[in-house]
Amino acid sequence: MPVELLKNPACLGAPDWKRELAAAITSSEELLHLLQLDPQLPTAAPANFRLRVPRAYAAKMRPGDARDPLLLQVLPRTAEFAGTGLLDPVADLEAMPTPGLLHKYHGRVLLITTGACAVHCRYCFRRNFPYSEASISTSHLQAALDYIGAHSEIREVILSGGDPLVLDDDKLAALENQLSEIEHVKWLRIHTRLPVVLPARITPALLDWMQSSRLKITLVMHANHANEIGEHETIALAALRRAGVTLLNQSVLLHQVNDNTETLIELSQRLHDSGVLPYYLHLLDKTRGAMHFDVPSATAVQIIDQMRARLPGYLVPRLVREQPGENSKTAIFSI
Ligand SMILES: *Cc1c(COP(=O)(O)O)cnc(C)c1O
Ligand code: SF4
Repeated sequence: MPVELLKNPACLGAPDWKRELAAAITSSEELLHLLQLDPQLPTAAPANFRLRVPRAYAAKMRPGDARDPLLLQVLPRTAEFAGTGLLDPVADLEAMPTPGLLHKYHGRVLLITTGACAVHCRYCFRRNFPYSEASISTSHLQAALDYIGAHSEIREVILSGGDPLVLDDDKLAALENQLSEIEHVKWLRIHTRLPVVLPARITPALLDWMQSSRLKITLVMHANHANEIGEHETIALAALRRAGVTLLNQSVLLHQVNDNTETLIELSQRLHDSGVLPYYLHLLDKTRGAMHFDVPSATAVQIIDQMRARLPGYLVPRLVREQPGENSKTAIFSI
């Protein structure tokens, strides 16, 4: 841990994961220097979505490799400034009956709990999302709870963001408590990248409230490459399983990161070894600033077909795309 952080009184007594979060790398130069790469390689980051990488994640990158698949996910590049792509590619802002609550699909709603993330993924489809107006801040929470309470068909509530696990334990527990008071809500789902970017977040206190919840908890994590799942991540995932949490993974198909069969087979195998089943493989949403990660759907279908020929069915993720106005994610079987 950097010395300056130890001296910061605000950090004294904070849990390890918060100190790690506060100590995340935020400059391309520092990251490239740590990886023994030329610090002049990068381009300036867009001011509204700057580089952010926890050190535990950077430690899994290969030094000296400018094409490392983890590095490519977080390093700002000039291609981001190409003008194509949409600001709200999946029409989230049209599916929001109350601020921060998305209701697109039957029986489940998604809550934007925070705009903050531990890592900034360059391909993020919410990189342009207006979090300040459209998240469940204290003032919008009651409206969201009222909406859920008034819709008895809602069985599952999904905590998303941003990343819900950057919230403090007491905030999460309070939210879980309010949701569990709504009788027809049975399941709580958490969409998070923290088990792979900041495994220290999986603390005994977090596991305690997950284990004691009345709600059936599913954690959908987000890894795109087997190298993201190392020893610490596997330990954190095992602890979640012991707490009775169902573990699934969603990935995004990303050019130069994981757009080949061998890479995705290895990811599925690593996930299974860690007690996680692959759920979705998403085609990239047409997000402005992220189009250089796009993979043609014909290539995607080919990769999935090759995976199917090599893996048990339960290790082949469902290839999907999100199309605004549809009543579920759209499965892609052929082009
Ligand atoms: C993707 C998504 C969900 C979850 O869909 P599942 O198919 O249940 O995983 C729910 N709500 C919204 C708004 C979504 O974008
Ligand atoms: S963690 Fe998820 S929400 Fe946050 S930047 Fe990455 S993809 Fe986007």
